[in-house]
Amino acid sequence: MNPFKEKLSLDAIRALQSNRLKKTITHAYNNIPYQKNKLDKAGIHPDDIQSIEDIHKLPFTTKEDLRKNYPYGMFAVPMNKIARIHASSGTTGQPTVVGYTKNDLDVFDEVVARSLYVAGAREGMIMHNAYGYGLFTGGLGIHGGATKLGMAVIPVSVGMTDRQLTILQEFKPDVICCTPSYAQFLGQEFYKKGIDTKELQLKYAVLGAEPWTESIRAQVEADLSVKATNIYGLSEIIGPGVSQESVLEQGTGSYIWEDYFFPEVVDKNTGEPLPYGEEGVLVFTTLTKEALPIMRYWTNDICSIQYDENSALPYIKMSKIKGRADDMVIVRGVNLFPTQIEEVLADVDKIVPNYQMHVDRKNSLDSICVKCEVKQGVSVEDKLLIKQLQSQIRAKIGIACDVELTEPFSMPESQGGKTQRIFDVRKI
Ligand code: ADP
Repeated sequence: MNPFKEKLSLDAIRALQSNRLKKTITHAYNNIPYQKNKLDKAGIHPDDIQSIEDIHKLPFTTKEDLRKNYPYGMFAVPMNKIARIHASSGTTGQPTVVGYTKNDLDVFDEVVARSLYVAGAREGMIMHNAYGYGLFTGGLGIHGGATKLGMAVIPVSVGMTDRQLTILQEFKPDVICCTPSYAQFLGQEFYKKGIDTKELQLKYAVLGAEPWTESIRAQVEADLSVKATNIYGLSEIIGPGVSQESVLEQGTGSYIWEDYFFPEVVDKNTGEPLPYGEEGVLVFTTLTKEALPIMRYWTNDICSIQYDENSALPYIKMSKIKGRADDMVIVRGVNLFPTQIEEVLADVDKIVPNYQMHVDRKNSLDSICVKCEVKQGVSVEDKLLIKQLQSQIRAKIGIACDVELTEPFSMPESQGGKTQRIFDVRKI
């Protein structure tokens, strides 16, 4: 199956967006009392929304709105029309509950099939799906899209790493889908066992659910002998497959399937829309969702969006997520995302991008300690290396910090879920 058989032009996408937005807002207004109330309060009636250009008139939706309506208060269809229920991972608090009609699940399959296709997957290939199955949208979401594409899916789920290594060797999958930290971990485990990953059938890794950078890509590509691309998504919008990086255009951002999810980037303080290319909070409006239509969902993820005139498909692209707005720590007045540390570590040869940031306050002064793993054969007492890391972090980020080197493979092992990089124990 080729999900791009029918090529949409950007004009056709715009027309679809306008049409779908009008329907979505009317549907939400008529069927979700909470959203009707919110629109009434903002003085907006669905008739005020005539095209996609009117989207900025709409109020934002936040995780808090979903939490207030826990579990089903934001559903726009009766429960007998709901075909599946998932929940967010709960990384930042109480999980939010999301529902899908059969049509919503078809859209989910469609956007994941598109995503896997641009990642390099094809009909007839085998998918090793090491995203968690269960309430998390990752496992079943990737499963449905891979099936739609015509792949054979191995529903491995997370954990039991030895079994994963055996399956990767013996079942000969072509594609693996998991978190980037788990891909790193699998690579290390193959190395420890002396298994040459070039002997595997694996060609592509589709990685997402947490922020990652070019340094992790380089490590995973080398350690697993694959081409690795980014998949992004969130349960409130649908799950994985909201956007995907093309394997032919690595490093240029991820295509957002904007005929289904309309993206905006807004100023994190004022909520004002920002021009293409400027970094801010990513906001999505669903354009076809029946069970959980969401207008202007404040993802809290920081990135920029932009059209790329050299790309093969007409869709807008988003940059890699720098972090969640609430992953940002302010240390002695400097705003800091863990991915910034990761980028500095990428330039240093003797370490691997496996790290943690520990933030504390001593004698009313913020202190930060970066712990990172050294490569095999490098001493954790290497004073020169510690100095080099400290001065590079200071030069690139403008912050003085302690650095602690840890033994190879000493960081907590990823079991496939999201990895915690920041440990902020300051009492505010
Ligand atoms: P939770 O918000 O509880 O973690 P989800 O499981 O729905 O729930 O996760 C969605 C979030 O995961 C996104 O908002 C984003 O912060 C993060 N995420 C997903 N994919 C990526 C990715 N490719 N890069 C960076 N962050 C990602």
